[in-house]
Amino acid sequence: MLETTVAGSLPKPGWLAETERLWPAWRLEGEALQDGKIDATILAIKLQEDAGIDIVSDGEQARIHFVHGFLANLDGIDFGKKTMMGIRANRYKAEVPTVTGPIRRKGPVHEAEARAARAHTARKLKFTLPGPMTIVDTIADEHYGDRAALAHAFAEVLNEEARELAALGVDIVQFDEPAFNVYMAEVAQWGMSALERAAQGLTCTTAVHICYGYGIKANNDWKATLGAQWRHYEQTFPVIAKSRIDQVSLECRNSRVPIELMGLLKGKDVMVGAIDVASAQIETPEEVAATLRAALAFVPPERLFPCTNCGLAPISSKIAYGKLAALAKGAALVRKSL
Ligand code: ZN
Repeated sequence: MLETTVAGSLPKPGWLAETERLWPAWRLEGEALQDGKIDATILAIKLQEDAGIDIVSDGEQARIHFVHGFLANLDGIDFGKKTMMGIRANRYKAEVPTVTGPIRRKGPVHEAEARAARAHTARKLKFTLPGPMTIVDTIADEHYGDRAALAHAFAEVLNEEARELAALGVDIVQFDEPAFNVYMAEVAQWGMSALERAAQGLTCTTAVHICYGYGIKANNDWKATLGAQWRHYEQTFPVIAKSRIDQVSLECRNSRVPIELMGLLKGKDVMVGAIDVASAQIETPEEVAATLRAALAFVPPERLFPCTNCGLAPISSKIAYGKLAALAKGAALVRKSL
């Protein structure tokens, strides 16, 4: 009960990549880089275990960014053809690769780090993949000419990858869909069907992480414009509630999301974000416990999974793992009182 978990990404060690950056440069190359990614994955698993996290993740140590890490092993994408474009409805600009042909996998993308993670923990293992709508929003397209069609093409390759991850012993495959908090009408029109295609036939637990983004300036500035109540989830949760996805995340700590919106997720597991990823201040266990207790008014304890608001990749390792320890301690406080 109240099994703790993380949204996904964790800081990379300074010997592997630049620290406290969202798009860091690798500090190793060739075989040393491949070995370093595996070592960092095992380290991230062990640090999560030491912090008391019950459902651990690979920490996305083997990818430079949660979207482009998956794209790197696909055919149909020209990484040399970079386009500067506004993403997340122009919230920020990113230099993105271009789709120039049919999307296909060249082979397994994340097999090596998934195997390493599985071999080094007896705890439940979560593995994250970018959701189809979010990929579509983070790439330029010169081939499909239609966002929904492109999303379904990505969903097919995501599904192949997800099935392999499940076969390797991954317990939870989570699709990250921050775009679900941006293109509200399109979620119902084609975003959700693309996500369900990505999750089709999976025998492991499936999850979707929807958030207000990493704790970077562009996101913090955006959030400042969203008014007193952030009600985006109110439109998406009823759509997700009807889907086959098992678990859904939402941001609760230091957010203006009305907490009662999680009541729209009846029958789903709810990952309650009790850790702010935009603040360097480490929550106290009591603050975590207060967030979880507020959530218990809407979600039964067996369906509540204490979690972080979003990924922790761009913050310092010391703060990130301090926050995870606080998450575990806060969950323990609530468990004791139940
Ligand atoms: Zn997120």
